[in-house]
Amino acid sequence: MTFNIVTIFPEMFDVLKNFGVFSRALKSGIVNLNLINLRDFTDDKHSMTEDYPFGGGSGLVMKAKPFFDIYEDISKKERPFVIYPSPQGELFNNEMAKDLAKKKNLLFLCGRYEGIDERVMEIVDMEASIGDFVLNGAEQPAMIMIEAIGRFIYGIVGSQESVEKDSFNNDLLDYSHYTRPRELNGKKVPEYLLSGNHGVIEMERRKESLIRTMKRRPDLFMKRDLDKLDKEALLSIFKEIYKDAE
Ligand code: SAM
Repeated sequence: MTFNIVTIFPEMFDVLKNFGVFSRALKSGIVNLNLINLRDFTDDKHSMTEDYPFGGGSGLVMKAKPFFDIYEDISKKERPFVIYPSPQGELFNNEMAKDLAKKKNLLFLCGRYEGIDERVMEIVDMEASIGDFVLNGAEQPAMIMIEAIGRFIYGIVGSQESVEKDSFNNDLLDYSHYTRPRELNGKKVPEYLLSGNHGVIEMERRKESLIRTMKRRPDLFMKRDLDKLDKEALLSIFKEIYKDAE
């Protein structure tokens, strides 16, 4: 997978290059990061990437032509799937990350100022937002999306099983996690985690995931297709609550 990124601040992506599992995936060649400095594609002698808006008003607008030129250049090899991180886009989520991880060539267009000249939208396949707030630029949203997509590319995260058990997969939130010591400040880890009984541990963890999801994200719970363990876990929760009832 190649992540192509058009930006006026390529240095910001040093975070992806230098930290965590994504940087290791870059070094081992599982993924490539192709950083394209928008300024290298301007025909303006001062390398200006932005200009005043037609119709007046505040702010500056990123010029269209350098984006078209970069898109054409990349498309000579293979047409990329183009993503424009934007507060006006569809809210980015786990399912979108999973789908994008199947693609071979992604191109992120990083907006700044008031955004990119609207005519560029004809090459955009997906406009995606990371939340209902406005940031100064799309570099951080792009990095967030790239990291989320990367988790679904085989080989980036050490344990694929842990990715599958993470929150949102199969419309469930993750259960709680503990590590040594067994007791800290008078607080003990739940007894069942020390039982060595994998069946019991799996059941208790599922119960906790279901309760958390129902309490915190009922919208997710309503989408979930209940499996056998869910039903057993819900029955067990029901019995605990109504143990004294007739
Ligand atoms: N004038 C734009 C608006 O109100 O919709 C906001 C422009 S913002 C200052 C500059 C750029 O940051 C945007 O073009 C977009 O690429 C990026 N950006 C800002 N907030 C974002 C968000 N919530 N999600 C994704 N990208 C965002």
